[in-house]
Amino acid sequence: MKRVLITGAAGFLGSHLCDRFIKEGYYVIAMDNLITGDLKNIEHLSANDNFEFINHDVSEHITIDEELDYILHFASPASPIDYLKIPIQTLKVGSLGTHNLLGLAKAKGARMLIASTSEVYGDPLVHPQTEDYYGNVNPIGPRGVYDEAKRFQEAITMAYHTYHGVETRIVRIFNTYGPRMRLNDGRVLPAFIGQALRGEDLTVFGEGNQTRSFCYVDDLIEGIYRLLLSDYELPVNIGNPDEITILDFCKEITKLTGTNQKIIYKDLPVNDPMQRQPDITKAIELLGWEPKVNRADGLKITYEYFKGLSEEELTKVEHKNFDEYVK
Ligand code: UDP
Repeated sequence: MKRVLITGAAGFLGSHLCDRFIKEGYYVIAMDNLITGDLKNIEHLSANDNFEFINHDVSEHITIDEELDYILHFASPASPIDYLKIPIQTLKVGSLGTHNLLGLAKAKGARMLIASTSEVYGDPLVHPQTEDYYGNVNPIGPRGVYDEAKRFQEAITMAYHTYHGVETRIVRIFNTYGPRMRLNDGRVLPAFIGQALRGEDLTVFGEGNQTRSFCYVDDLIEGIYRLLLSDYELPVNIGNPDEITILDFCKEITKLTGTNQKIIYKDLPVNDPMQRQPDITKAIELLGWEPKVNRADGLKITYEYFKGLSEEELTKVEHKNFDEYVK
């Protein structure tokens, strides 16, 4: 039986990866320090003999006694508002955490896949974004703690690959959505749905003409699984190229939820990327992968998930207002 270590396992993507690897017949070691993750995302796996959970911060030294075949590093705050609240942890998990895990991969002879991001492209001047674009990142802006940690993460991963011969994979993940996103993490989809469910106005930042391209979580997990098992060590974009403006996206959510609330406009956050769309030619050619779930279907499933949350979860507001973020 192959053994896989998944960090950030109690988070949105990490928990879906745990499900996938259990389904594929792996032994899964799930690691998380629960700083933004939630055990409820993996509690359905807790009775499974092929699953164990370790509460640990990967920025600290990691000890695993048994053998490992694969490591997937998905631990990190992932919402711009979270980076502002916990900037040092965000920097550490992408840098020190990655270093620790690469050391572990080297010691175990394991293959390691890191969760990189479209944020390495910053506010991109090339559109759509291809993997050979170097990006346009402000290192000292509010997003710098995440963007630069992820860029460092790619650099150290390639260094371990070339210098130590560690087998590595790099996925650049574009905006992804689906069940188990944190309703109050401040990201646009849970923000809009949460506002609709609570009967609040929907907050569009700027004029809403900035774009994003949203990928349903099942599609993303399939792409990551294929990349891990491929023999390609350079970065690969995984995302859905179906691009939409934030204002149109807000209107889609308004229609889906049937809310009568108004759309209100707030200042655009500093360094908010104006456009984002993955070029997925590489993923198509190398992995035979393409997204299959269209936004209408994915949003319906996600809305059902959020509707099923308790009143307490729905009203737990982590970011009381966005003024701390939108200056
Ligand atoms: N956004 C918005 N209203 C919100 C939250 C976010 O208009 O209540 C915008 C945000 O300014 C950005 C886009 O939605 O342009 C996506 O933001 P998100 O935080 O989801 O992630 P990003 O893609 O910026 O990392």
